Amino acid sequence: MSAQIMESPWLSEATRQFLQRSGKLLIANKWTEAANGGHFWVKDPTSGQDLVEVARATAVDVDRAVQAAGKAYEGRWSRLSPAERARLLWRLADLIEEHAQEFSELESVNTGKPITETMLADVPLTVEHFRYFAGWVTKLTGETLPVSQPGHYLAYTRREPLGVVGAIVPWNFPLMIASWKIAPALACGNTVVIKPSEITPLSLLRLGELSIEAGFPPGVINIVPGYGHDAGHALVSHPDVAKISFTGSTRVGREIMVAAADRFTRVTLELGGKSPNIVLPDANPDAVVAGAMMGIFFNQGEVCCAGSRLFLPRTQFDAIIDKVGRRAQSIQQGVGIDPATEMGALVSETQMNRVMQYIETGKSEGASLVTGGDRNSEAGSGYFVQPTVFVGHDNMTIAREEIFGPVLVALPYEDLDEVVRRANATPYGLAAAVWTEDVRKGIKVAEKLKAGTVWINGYNLLDATSPWGGFKASGLGREMGSYALQHYTELKSTWVNLD
Ligand code: NAD
Repeated sequence: MSAQIMESPWLSEATRQFLQRSGKLLIANKWTEAANGGHFWVKDPTSGQDLVEVARATAVDVDRAVQAAGKAYEGRWSRLSPAERARLLWRLADLIEEHAQEFSELESVNTGKPITETMLADVPLTVEHFRYFAGWVTKLTGETLPVSQPGHYLAYTRREPLGVVGAIVPWNFPLMIASWKIAPALACGNTVVIKPSEITPLSLLRLGELSIEAGFPPGVINIVPGYGHDAGHALVSHPDVAKISFTGSTRVGREIMVAAADRFTRVTLELGGKSPNIVLPDANPDAVVAGAMMGIFFNQGEVCCAGSRLFLPRTQFDAIIDKVGRRAQSIQQGVGIDPATEMGALVSETQMNRVMQYIETGKSEGASLVTGGDRNSEAGSGYFVQPTVFVGHDNMTIAREEIFGPVLVALPYEDLDEVVRRANATPYGLAAAVWTEDVRKGIKVAEKLKAGTVWINGYNLLDATSPWGGFKASGLGREMGSYALQHYTELKSTWVNLD
């Protein structure tokens, strides 16, 4: 077990104890081993050492979990009143908040990200997500319809739950993204089987413990840690799963959509991105530098909406890029749970190698390196990659493909029409940002950008009320806000002949 983590002065006793309980599957409120006794090791990204051994679900376990969820859906869960279901969601939110320190530590230890970020973003946003959707449980109304058929009818709509929802989540925001799925699914009356990433199951397992404490009936929330190609695939192709809510890569999202087509399983997909961060000539220079940092180095750049393409006006290019480079160089990189750390380790060796491969490709294709470009062994023996800034052009691999790491490509432009065209010239469309002191101009640019979210003078702003999802290859459907509810319900029209 990773000595670096277990002996860390920043780790609370509660987290230390949790890490000593090896992880199991949660099926019908019982912690169980996998049917075949399989396990996998969760690693400490700051040292590469083993951290916790977790039971590894395969198709048999996923089937048990889906059956438990089906039974709960037909049984106790459906008999609870909306107000009772809402109270359970609120109770879970309160419990997560009571254990915020522990969740912040766990998320940081498992993913490598700084605890300052988990305390400010991952955990409070998770809590708010549960509260927001708890509020919707008692407000899922239908309509009466003014139908014109001859005769006398009462016609009305109802929003009905789908049944068992299969949720599959990635490793970059394991707890928060799980809440984006669990909260609306339960709010709409469904039950859930969730598969965390095999790299980062820990915070979700802790949430499972609290879901029992909160009083959720058995089978409402089931957690099956395991690998994508077996547990994930089994969930997606299970005949009793009514809907798959997936966040992850565009490649796997495409596979899931194909698998779902067989049975017309409902799907929502939150996928990758290559988001443009566009600076207009009149932008506030200090805000621009801070925004560029936030856009690409938050969460080590392992962010689906990372502002990985920084478009700068050619006339100001050298001055801004100089400041961006110096600020990037000054980032304090280290162990995530150290409160002084500003940027942590990447999540896994595979991810580090992938990012390093992109950096080498950038160099070999002639991009000019402003800062970084290597691993950071001073920060630790784990998967640390320096904050890296390149100057490049649009057809370089690093400017086209999602790197999912701390690698920025700065690109000069001449005029507004050109930058909008280039910003949109990507298969992705998750997010974009515009920096300007002229808000009218910012809004006009925002209207032309093909992205699910556009920020004007900001970056990485998310809220439970604000819909989240992608245009084009960045996804299908929307999470968050009232918009999520339509993806977790079927709409039924009922006609009553009153004659
Ligand atoms: P990934 O696609 O490799 O894995 C995501 C999840 O899918 C994991 O739980 C994995 O085990 C599972 N999986 C893998 N193969 C599967 C299969 N064949 N069937 C079913 N499940 C399978 O992605 P990742 O590496 O964990 O995460 C990074 C990616 O996620 C990036 O592309 C990033 O842009 C994307 N992402 C998108 C958003 C968003 O909101 N749009 C948010 C976070 C991450």
